[in-house]
Amino acid sequence: MPAEAAKPLRVGVFGGTFDPPHVGHLVTAVNVRHALDLDLMLLMVNNVPWQKVGSRAITPAADRLAMVAAAVADVPGLEAGAHEITAGGPSYTADTLATLAAEYPGAELFTVVGDDAAAGIRTWERADEVIARSHLVVVDRPGEPVELDADIDWIRVEVPRLEVSSTDLRARWADGRPLDYLVTDEVLAVVAERSLYASAGSA
Ligand code: ATP
Ligand code: MG
Repeated sequence: MPAEAAKPLRVGVFGGTFDPPHVGHLVTAVNVRHALDLDLMLLMVNNVPWQKVGSRAITPAADRLAMVAAAVADVPGLEAGAHEITAGGPSYTADTLATLAAEYPGAELFTVVGDDAAAGIRTWERADEVIARSHLVVVDRPGEPVELDADIDWIRVEVPRLEVSSTDLRARWADGRPLDYLVTDEVLAVVAERSLYASAGSA
């Protein structure tokens, strides 16, 4: 059998609320895909980000998916993942990995997180299942280094550290400050079309 035929597909799962998706997400996704030679990197859009519910208004999932789809449309190897929205209800990575394992039999799965999310991995629903079903990949975000669970065999990938967050972007919209270069033009177009973030007209 030729060696290529036996090589399992390598699929990255970069989950998030993506409210909105920004250059920090995109730079992370393309660099992790490159560093780990992934065939596919899914930016997996949470349906209900249960750890964020109650803390603020969350943009409807369909709008967040449209922004992510626009952001990755022209980027080879990156795709928006709608699995959690299709599944409905609260989004648990453990369930998403089970769905992907069925969709891509034999694939090696990589769960990709920023270090802030990595620090909280034990608070995830069925964290042990996430650890069992996938390799865990962590990238640093700007700021103090965080302490990671030493029992997990983390794959660390160095990516350019960009001090940008969706929280900051939403504040920029609210204040009418510029968004240029922090989100892509394609995302800005979806925001304008769908009148997201209330004062997006000022962008
Ligand atoms: P919010 O401020 O609303 O929490 P966010 O910018 O942190 O938004 P999320 O959707 O919460 O974005 O994050 C999805 C994933 O992307 C998480 O694993 C998070 O750590 C990672 N991430 C977010 N921003 C960056 C960044 N600038 N560099 C690297 N990873 C990032
Ligand atoms: Mg976050």
